[in-house]
Amino acid sequence: MVGDEAVWGEELREFAIYCQDSLGCRKKIVCHMCVFDQHNYFGKLHAPSNMLVHCSSKHTIGYKCPKSGCMVRVATPRELPLHIHFYHELPTGWWEMTPYNEKMNVMKGD
Ligand SMILES: [Zn+2]
Ligand SMILES: [Zn+2]
Repeated sequence: MVGDEAVWGEELREFAIYCQDSLGCRKKIVCHMCVFDQHNYFGKLHAPSNMLVHCSSKHTIGYKCPKSGCMVRVATPRELPLHIHFYHELPTGWWEMTPYNEKMNVMKGD
C-alpha cells in the first residue's frame, strides 16, 4: 500500500511541508531526513551534488530516489515510494485538496 492510505496525521503534514519547502527551488533540494528524522523545517536547502556528503555525515547514507535527476535520499525503504508519490506524482498543491487536507488533521489513535 503506497501513499494515500499509508500516511496521515503528522507524517502527512510533514510531507506537505516538505513539498511546499521544495517549491520554487528545484535547483536546490530539501533534505528528506532533516525534515522527517529531525523535524527540521524550512531553509534547509542543499545543492544536489552535496546530498550524498550531507546525508552520510549528518544522517545515514540512506536510499536514493530512483527518479532520474532527483538526488533526494531517504532513511528507510518504506519512505521511497512515499517520497515518489507525494513529491513526484501528485500535482502541486495536493496538500490543499480533499482528502489530503482532511487526513492531515486526523490524529493517530492510541
Ligand atoms: Zn539532512
Ligand atoms: Zn525523488
